[in-house]
Amino acid sequence: MARDYYGILGVESNATDQEIKKAYRKLARKYHPDVNPGDEEAAEKFREASLAQEVLLDPQKRQVVDMGSDPMEQQAGGGGFGGGGFGGGGLGDIFAEFFGGGGGQGRGPRSRVQPGNDALLRTSITLEEAYAGMRKTVTVDTAVLCDRCSGSGSASKAKPVTCTGCGGAGEIQEVQRSFLGNVMTSRPCPQCQGFGEVITDPCNHCGGDGRVKKRRDITVNIPAGIGDGMRIRMADQGEVGHGGGPAGDLYVEVHTQKHPIFERDADDLHVSVRVPMVDAALGTSFPVEHLDGESLEIDIEPGTQPGEAIVLDGKGMPRLRTDGHGKLYAHVDVLVPTDLDKKTKELLEQIRDKREESSKVHSADDNDGEGFFDRLRDRFRR
Ligand SMILES: [Zn+2]
Ligand SMILES: [Zn+2]
Repeated sequence: MARDYYGILGVESNATDQEIKKAYRKLARKYHPDVNPGDEEAAEKFREASLAQEVLLDPQKRQVVDMGSDPMEQQAGGGGFGGGGFGGGGLGDIFAEFFGGGGGQGRGPRSRVQPGNDALLRTSITLEEAYAGMRKTVTVDTAVLCDRCSGSGSASKAKPVTCTGCGGAGEIQEVQRSFLGNVMTSRPCPQCQGFGEVITDPCNHCGGDGRVKKRRDITVNIPAGIGDGMRIRMADQGEVGHGGGPAGDLYVEVHTQKHPIFERDADDLHVSVRVPMVDAALGTSFPVEHLDGESLEIDIEPGTQPGEAIVLDGKGMPRLRTDGHGKLYAHVDVLVPTDLDKKTKELLEQIRDKREESSKVHSADDNDGEGFFDRLRDRFRR
């Protein structure tokens, strides 16, 4: 029996290369021998998944799989079975072993009309655009229906004729001699590429493919609050399939550029504010321009400490799936003056004399039980 390579990876038979790689990586992480030392079952699963990926990413091997055969066993020329049992068997027995009682043979040629692949496009937007949401026009290069032949692939709209190379079966069977005896293998017919039929007067616009590459502009609706790396699915905007088959979907992956002032963490925003030492002690307020141009007032309470954060509820990023916004954290950086003139220095000395304070070591567990490194971490994001 041919191995179920799609089933091994748990992907659909129309999976894109991307999906195959993703499914493989997931299994590889789970079953990798380094993760499961000494576990033979896991090792076997890892080997299977690696093989399935190799086969499905190779267009020729994948075509063989899609025709119900196993490209790896054909390559092995029968030696891969290794279990004997073929000894006295005729050709028919071996054929049955290979194709599961002729089930593979019964599949016949593959349809000329194939569903199209999904397409992926990456685009990048600013944080301001992610905050407000926008409509963005993107340029996409995909296969579209050939407008000369409407996907038939034929210039005169004449029906394709049965392939003489394979008699319409779409595959060619060959007998190979091996040490086990004669072994039957089958491969896609080169004359018709496995379709079982041939177009006699190919459309000169698409060469008989039924589709042509075209550059198009598409407008994507990017919702406010979209996260970095999220994908927007645009149904039926992917590639048109061979023979004018239904188009796949287009996925637009949206990346957000780094912002010079605001940093995003899911629905929250973080901003660093520099407050002069005296303002931190006495309190102050000042404006900050938000991503949409709105002027926000940041209130610094008297006695604000370095590393404290002022939290503005509802001023973070818009939430994608529910109403409202996250929080905006203004992290206070207290600025200590380094350019003291004589007069200022005297004033500060007077303050020191008056307060009779002095620097000293304090316990690492001070400060609500948090250690030094906890506090350090707090300073750089929650
Ligand atoms: Zn055409
Ligand atoms: Zn053929």
